[in-house]
Amino acid sequence: MISDSYDVVIVGTGPAGLGAAFHLIENDPALKVLLVDKEKICSGGLLNDCKQNYTFPIGFAEEYWSKESAEEILAQVERHLQPVIMKKHNLEQYRRRARQISVSLCDVRQAHVGSDRSKTLIRRLLSELESMGVRVVVKKEVAEVFSRGGKAGVAFTDGGKVSAKAVIIAPGRKGFRFLKRIMEELGVAYVDNIVDIGIRLETRIENYSIVRDYYDPKIYFENGVRTFCTNSGLARVVLEQYQDFKLINGHALSAGSRRNDLVNFALLRTIRLEDPVRSGHQMAVYLGRLANEIGGGKPLMQRVGDFRMGKRSREATFTRDLYDFAPTCSVTAGDLGLAVPSKIMKDLWAALKKLDTIVPGVLHPSTIMYYPEIKMYANKPAFLDEHFQVKAGIYMIGDGAGTSRGITGAWASGIRAAQGILRLL
Ligand SMILES: Cc1cc2nc3c(=O)[nH]c(=O)nc-3n(C[C@H](O)[C@H](O)[C@H](O)COP(=O)(O)OP(=O)(O)OC[C@H]3O[C@@H](n4cnc5c(N)ncnc54)[C@H](O)[C@@H]3O)c2cc1C
Repeated sequence: MISDSYDVVIVGTGPAGLGAAFHLIENDPALKVLLVDKEKICSGGLLNDCKQNYTFPIGFAEEYWSKESAEEILAQVERHLQPVIMKKHNLEQYRRRARQISVSLCDVRQAHVGSDRSKTLIRRLLSELESMGVRVVVKKEVAEVFSRGGKAGVAFTDGGKVSAKAVIIAPGRKGFRFLKRIMEELGVAYVDNIVDIGIRLETRIENYSIVRDYYDPKIYFENGVRTFCTNSGLARVVLEQYQDFKLINGHALSAGSRRNDLVNFALLRTIRLEDPVRSGHQMAVYLGRLANEIGGGKPLMQRVGDFRMGKRSREATFTRDLYDFAPTCSVTAGDLGLAVPSKIMKDLWAALKKLDTIVPGVLHPSTIMYYPEIKMYANKPAFLDEHFQVKAGIYMIGDGAGTSRGITGAWASGIRAAQGILRLL
């Protein structure tokens, strides 16, 4: 039974919601806190792969954080997630090569849980919260958030309602439409956010051997291009359903599992549209649909060897001769040139050529380029304070609200919202 009034209701059990819940209950054990999720287990990056980055600005929306404030909070995030930080080797050698061609390589403290072990971590976190008195309810979807006459609260799709002194909304990237509707209903102003558009590469580990020295190398190229989410060990490229089309993503199992000696990573270009374009998100949706249309209902993949010769890839010749490993994700062998806007493709290809200088081999003809890998962030609310309050007693945080771009940044946003609520209460 859910009671009908709480001090704080938190929507979403992703890292943003968890960060808020821990901070609230640890600092005021008497608080009545409800943590609710529409899924059986949170559906974002904590569950999928769960790579954690503990170096600012990775995973943070830089406009809301200084290095000092982020680092102070990251220590608290670390205390809860208990990461096993991975060692790096030969960094100076890669850095020297990068510097010579005006590319930068960021040295990030990282941990990797793996999709097979992440559920154990999530269950531990939720049971710790429950033992401290937080009420955790899953498979319960919030339909409405209200704030009237000094009273806030939420209504569920199954008809129930609870009131609260404060509501934290942390619905993640997939909660884009939900959050937008709530902002409109509450009269919260918002602005368009950036989108990251790019490809995912898959290759043999010997063609991208840097991963033996640095698990998820963060490399920054000109024109807003960067490497993102590198997976190795037992690594797979996967499909992610988004509205009526599919996007590309990747993950890996934990270090102890079998290996397939493949690596996959994304190469993304950040796009920030300006007036008079209304929505970068909408543009990304059109690009995602276009790629799926050209791929006959699926994303596209092309071997680097075919791309270089200006030919489309074909299923019949996709795994032959030099093309000596099978793709881990079954999508349509085709021509990325038809689907990726030329300005984006030009910048991605220029970055790839530089990457091939830093890690020789990545442009082997057999390397597969998958498209579209797109990261959409919700429209950013106009915040009233540094605690991400958008209306009296209502807080919006995490990747969905544009306050983070990764697990650790999302958890940190939760702590910051909780700090504001503790002050308010
Ligand atoms: C496939 C995938 C892999 C990723 N891998 C990584 C990684 O390895 N490392 C990394 O740093 N980042 C990764 N990310 C990004 C990462 O997911 C986010 O940065 C992070 O999870 C954001 O946290 P969040 O709490 O804002 O949202 P989420 O983790 O997405 O959590 C939001 C939660 O809110 C719930 N929800 C939404 N709407 C409602 C509603 N109306 N009612 C009730 N509940 C609702 C959802 O079910 C969800 O569980 C990955 C993302 C994806 C999609």
